[in-house]
Amino acid sequence: MRYVSTRGEDRGGGFREILLGGLMADGGLAMPVSYPRIDAAGLAAMRGMSYAELALAVLRLFADDVPEDVLRGLVEKTYTAEVYCNGRAGGDAAEITPVRTLEPGVHLLELSNGPTLAFKDMAMQLLGNLFEWALAENGETLNILGATSGDTGSSAEYAMRGKRGIRVFMLSPFGKMSAFQTAQMFSLMDENIYNLAVRGVFDDCQDVVKAVSNDLGFKRQYRIGTVNSINWARVVAQVVYYFKGYFAVAGEVGAPVSFAVPSGNFGNICAGHIARMMGLPIRRLILATNENDVLDEFFRTGVYRPRGTAETQQTSSPSMDISRASNFERFVFDLVGRDAGRVKGLWREAAELGSFDLGGTPEWAGIEQYGFLSGASTHGNRLATIRRAWESYGVMIDPHTADGLKVGMEHREEGVPLVCLETALPVKFGETMAEALGRAPERSAKFAGMETLPQRSVTVDADAEEVKAFIRARADAV
Ligand SMILES: *Cc1c(COP(=O)(O)O)cnc(C)c1O
Repeated sequence: MRYVSTRGEDRGGGFREILLGGLMADGGLAMPVSYPRIDAAGLAAMRGMSYAELALAVLRLFADDVPEDVLRGLVEKTYTAEVYCNGRAGGDAAEITPVRTLEPGVHLLELSNGPTLAFKDMAMQLLGNLFEWALAENGETLNILGATSGDTGSSAEYAMRGKRGIRVFMLSPFGKMSAFQTAQMFSLMDENIYNLAVRGVFDDCQDVVKAVSNDLGFKRQYRIGTVNSINWARVVAQVVYYFKGYFAVAGEVGAPVSFAVPSGNFGNICAGHIARMMGLPIRRLILATNENDVLDEFFRTGVYRPRGTAETQQTSSPSMDISRASNFERFVFDLVGRDAGRVKGLWREAAELGSFDLGGTPEWAGIEQYGFLSGASTHGNRLATIRRAWESYGVMIDPHTADGLKVGMEHREEGVPLVCLETALPVKFGETMAEALGRAPERSAKFAGMETLPQRSVTVDADAEEVKAFIRARADAV
């Protein structure tokens, strides 16, 4: 499979070439030159597969320059009941992403049973193993620079801790993560993990990462890589659980199923879009935002108006407090018929004028074929949905999953199973759960006393030069 940039660059590179990189040299995102299609017979053959087998079946199509026995070894090492037994899965841990039926036709796809109790472990654990293998193959080392609003950072650190040839420098907004998330990250004492608390919000952290990555000399000299959701391998690893969830609830192969997806950086739902483009019979991709509703506005009106820091609200579903969704460019690339010049122009327009408007264009007239619907959820909706799920189903869902369930139910259709993606477990967001239910979420013995462990972090300004100096002082240059 060859990869091209959403802004036009085409160096003819394969999966291994883009695996360790972030943005392409022209500032765009890597995309496969075309989507492999899986026909009805192919889908039927996948139906009975285990999670690891499904992962191999999907990934080999996109990573055909990784020897198949290597890829098989990596997915088998990654997708085990031992790695994905940390949440509520209980006896279903072998399913990796078990489905829990909330009421007839409405299901929860459990994606949060990995080490950090959020769906990001689904892709990140694989990425850790892929990176370690690829670096050893090439005789290289990598300094991973990332930005997190909570879940990405911990997921990346738990995937990369102790991995040979890898250091992690993780930027997070100072004082803006939950106590549990902070403890999860800052209590790691592994020598290859560095936590940088940035005075600012998540978008400031993301801007610093972009600025450092745009310094191509620095990037090359210090072998800077990324694990942010723009990483293609992460997106493609997430495609797998759409297949798994589909087969778990579809009456027969070919029947339509809809997915509701709590969204921030558009990474999770981008994977759903790709699964659908590959031929998985997804009827609707229902995108849910919180009060930061940039993406909901786009899917309702065609206007994309990314917001700055000042306009980004801090909400009780903090991992969705994103006003510039980095993976969104991947979808727009498809929407405009893969016209990279047009994508470049649209992003220039957004940078110069603050927004672009596709409403009324021929592309917008064709958006229906992609199956997207959207909606937004507020703090009040979130609390009410958490309460309703607890009272009606006896299931505790976290605030992000609640946003997805709320919007999903609004777009539910008779006769079409709805799968709501669970993106984190409630224990990570104790304050909001207590507000909704008047009680703290249960936590397993494994996470008891988490917040009282010793913590380690360094506080910095949202300043690329300061972050570069920090990396320079600790990383090997080549
Ligand atoms: C990252 C995250 C999201 C948003 O996912 P995107 O891929 O960025 O759209 C939603 N909920 C939780 C709990 C997350 O960690």
